[in-house]
Amino acid sequence: MLIFEKSVKGRASIQLDKLDVPHYELKAQKRNAQARLPEISEQDAVRHYTELSRKAHGVDNGFYPLGSCTMKYNPRVNEVIAADKAFANIHPLQEEETVKGCTQVMDELSDYLCAITGMDAFTLQPAAGAHGEFTGIMLIKAYHMSRNDTLRTKIIVPDSAHGTNPASAHMCDFDIVSVPSNAQGGVDIEELKKVVGPDTAGLMLTNPNTLGLFDKNILKITEIVHKAGGLCYYDGANLNAIMGVVRPGDMGFDCMHLNIHKTFSTPHGGGGPGAGPVGCKKSLASFLPTPVFGKLPQGYDPKKSIGKVKTFYGNFSVLVKGLAYIKTLGKEGIKDAAQKAVLNANYLLSLVKKDYDLAYDRICMHEFVLSLQKLKDETGVSAMDVAKAMLDYGMHPPTMYFPLIVHEALMLEPTETESRETLIKAAQVLNTIKQQAVADSASLHDSPKTTIIGRVDEVRAARQPVLKYDFSK
Ligand SMILES: *Cc1c(COP(=O)(O)O)cnc(C)c1O
Repeated sequence: MLIFEKSVKGRASIQLDKLDVPHYELKAQKRNAQARLPEISEQDAVRHYTELSRKAHGVDNGFYPLGSCTMKYNPRVNEVIAADKAFANIHPLQEEETVKGCTQVMDELSDYLCAITGMDAFTLQPAAGAHGEFTGIMLIKAYHMSRNDTLRTKIIVPDSAHGTNPASAHMCDFDIVSVPSNAQGGVDIEELKKVVGPDTAGLMLTNPNTLGLFDKNILKITEIVHKAGGLCYYDGANLNAIMGVVRPGDMGFDCMHLNIHKTFSTPHGGGGPGAGPVGCKKSLASFLPTPVFGKLPQGYDPKKSIGKVKTFYGNFSVLVKGLAYIKTLGKEGIKDAAQKAVLNANYLLSLVKKDYDLAYDRICMHEFVLSLQKLKDETGVSAMDVAKAMLDYGMHPPTMYFPLIVHEALMLEPTETESRETLIKAAQVLNTIKQQAVADSASLHDSPKTTIIGRVDEVRAARQPVLKYDFSK
């Protein structure tokens, strides 16, 4: 039931005091008709939203192995720190002298991010990963333009890339060149050599890639692109697997984004606020959006900035959470989190391997991809059916049908915060579903059966979304 349907005329949550100043009529700003707001008591409003929150599955409800999204536990201490009045009650237009604590947060965070990634400078402005990609590609563009190198019109993207990579490059007016993966799931070096040239502006890549595999040829890959005069962009969404162990800056990348809301533990999903800081090497630092914080490389010149990509300082409270997370874990803790993320993924992989086929049968990093093509051929049960059935066991489905190069793909990322017991339970659930697929495949086609909403028509939901409440009914 929608909150509008619970509305009772005249009911209210607040009582305003009697007017004790002269009445003033706001004529020009006034609506033509009353705003259609639900009239509801405070208690009923609280119950309404609590009930809604129970209907959704989140990290706080249960296992959430949504590959690529790093749905790990977000320590509550981050929230406590971010909610501190000194952070929460400031205004972005306050004089800088009055918010020194906040600028110190951004200085420290920028410096830590440089240390963790091997970059020389960071902007904290971008609001999400995709926004960071756009910013980073704009830096690459500004770099080539500053050298009057105007023929570089192409960005190379592996065929396993996240969809946002080609989309971001396209938004910056570049043409996209796709390179195929080799049999081990990495970039095909020979194919890469064929596509690089004087028109190469850069390469966008994530390592470990979206198959959860670390590309051992990474130094060779970045060298090939550099030799052709291009720059290398690192999609940092998978940093959770390598932080504290290896650094994109040492792999030969020139710029990158991070997803604070994935790696550095800010709640995400449902489109909540995130942060996608962009870091770069010295050669690109002057192009960064301003203001920038932290130690800046020699020769930094803000006059060359590409301009702002977000108002003020970006999503500041998310940045506070990121710093709180980094400081509570410390240098060893950051590395430990990455190693346990990899250990947990390999443990789960070893448990489900007997029931499901791996897309690439090798040790994985923080996530792995199953291919259910054979199961579908033999039983008619698809990756979608298996994923939806998991909901009946109180687990969020893995990422489905991504990356696109794997048929009937299910991509699982358990994250480091899950216990061994949870991983064993997840493997047992997947085993039960596999047995059900073999014994009674038809019963899986309409799963989930125990959730409030059953199987939805996803194509219709995407093509004909109903986003507005129809008051005429
Ligand atoms: C999540 C993700 C992105 C995009 O990040 P958003 O914060 O969702 O915009 C880009 N690349 C990869 C590999 C991702 O997993």
